[in-house]
Amino acid sequence: MIDYQKFAPKNMSVKERRKLDVGDIFSNSATCLICNDTIRSKNRHDFQTCKCGKLSIDGGSWYPKRSFKKEHSWKDNIELYEIMGETIS
Ligand SMILES: [Zn+2]
Repeated sequence: MIDYQKFAPKNMSVKERRKLDVGDIFSNSATCLICNDTIRSKNRHDFQTCKCGKLSIDGGSWYPKRSFKKEHSWKDNIELYEIMGETIS
């Protein structure tokens, strides 16, 4: 599993990102407020779970998927790419 932040910097153009299969989310991260663990999904299929197991995230640069066992027990830390734009097919 390769962390897309390693090859797709925050100011990379949409066109270049799509060539590398990278979406619009630069940092897909969330913090569990129960165990205070911050996790980040580093790839579309990189499923991460916090230390206490109450929060899981997925989706990498493409979609911010969150699964949680307790409501209001986590916060998002999403950072988008600086250059946004229409989807290029
Ligand atoms: Zn936790």
